[in-house]
Amino acid sequence: MSNSDLVQKEVDTFMASLKERNPGEPEFHQAVHEVTESLMPFVLEHEKYRKARILERMTEPDRILTFRVTWEDDNKEIQVNRGWRVQFNNAIGPYKGGLRFHPTVTLSVLKFLGFEQVFKNSLTTLPMGGGKGGSNFDPKGKSDSEVMRFCQALMVELYRYIGSDRDIPAGDIGVGAREIGYLFGQYRRLENRFTGTITGKGLSFGGSLIRAEATGFGAVYFAENMLAKRGEGLDGKTAAVSGSGNVALYAIQKLAEKGARVVTASDSSGFIHDPEGIRDEKFEWLRELKEQRRGRIREYAEKFGCEFVEGQRPWGVPCELAFPCATQNEVNRQNAEDLVKNGCIAVTEGANMPSDLDAIRVFQEAGILFAPGKAANAGGVAVSGLEQSQNAMRISWTREEVDRRLQDIMRKIHDRCIDFGANGSDAPNYVKGANIAGFIKVADAMLAYGAV
Ligand code: NDP
Repeated sequence: MSNSDLVQKEVDTFMASLKERNPGEPEFHQAVHEVTESLMPFVLEHEKYRKARILERMTEPDRILTFRVTWEDDNKEIQVNRGWRVQFNNAIGPYKGGLRFHPTVTLSVLKFLGFEQVFKNSLTTLPMGGGKGGSNFDPKGKSDSEVMRFCQALMVELYRYIGSDRDIPAGDIGVGAREIGYLFGQYRRLENRFTGTITGKGLSFGGSLIRAEATGFGAVYFAENMLAKRGEGLDGKTAAVSGSGNVALYAIQKLAEKGARVVTASDSSGFIHDPEGIRDEKFEWLRELKEQRRGRIREYAEKFGCEFVEGQRPWGVPCELAFPCATQNEVNRQNAEDLVKNGCIAVTEGANMPSDLDAIRVFQEAGILFAPGKAANAGGVAVSGLEQSQNAMRISWTREEVDRRLQDIMRKIHDRCIDFGANGSDAPNYVKGANIAGFIKVADAMLAYGAV
């Protein structure tokens, strides 16, 4: 049997067993599959990891907490949602990862996100373990009071499992500045202590400058590092961005600042195509639309007289750079083929697992640059880590200081990916690089702890 056949057999056996133990969790299977494909040869070459069954242990969360969240809506009707916290792995630091509020949230989604978070947090060079949580609650269309009551009800249960040395939640889809304010406000009351247990906080109550911008900015810095290796830059390039939430908005802002022309943005109803580029007053208008008014992307097209394409994703629009920044599995094989055909040279994942396994294969076979989310979007959690440091020291760094640290971290993550993903071509395998680099630190800590 050839070496690659042997590796494939091991991957297949491992995945069959994982699927049997975790039935009906397709997103979790997908995330583990992607990691296992690139890690298995490395694990087979290193007896110490194989013998200690580190991969088996790393795919089993430390614990999963599930609870009921009961709250009253504005019509005095009782509503019932489900809340979760997946504490995946704390080998290198307290659990850290966001909370997602979206009707599509399931245990499978949170396990995939928690699993990815372990590798991502390890890559940041900061001492953070991985976790994720959230609820199937949909904040869309709810009043501020309803969102507040829901957040308070969720925290009444969640607070007993978290803490600044134990587990530090943050935002994700559907959990922005408003929700973090309500969640932290309730946590503070219940604990009767002011500790940095949640990140993404408002600036007046322990938040860090640049935290809101960090994921989007960080993804752009990562793309800049990739392009620089090819002697290229962002200036003058056309970019397609999906989403118009926290990650997308600040990716758009930084891309425009660096001289790229961002021609698309989207939400779950469709995308807008603005060939002139989203920048300056147009960007500020979009930010206000999404962050303050919670409006729909269609309104941008109405306001600025450009095209709105209902129910579609933006990947058919010609671009040199693509930044999927909305949600998982928003780039499939067909989308990937369209991007490559239309001249895309780099795909940088702002979202978590936006490209499915077929799409990743298309990018890699075409030899274009592909940055997986666990490396490219790590800037958000990195600045969350910096927020924790500032809280612990009771100081606040300047915008410039946090941004400098963010840029430094993104460069280090990029270089770590190259350490393990260099393949002699000008398109290093960033997937392999990120998976191996993220794995080693956690695996070595687990080895040191013995059979735990
Ligand atoms: P937001 O809730 O701020 O924005 C999400 C955006 O994606 C919105 O435009 C939303 O449109 C769109 N979207 C969400 N679900 C779907 C869907 N099923 N189909 C199409 N569009 C959808 O979330 P964030 O910007 O914080 O997160 C975006 C991605 O980035 C997620 O994958 C998240 O896990 C990842 N991420 C976020 C980090 C952060 O710091 N916030 C850190 C690292 C990764 P609509 O408003 O219509 O729902």
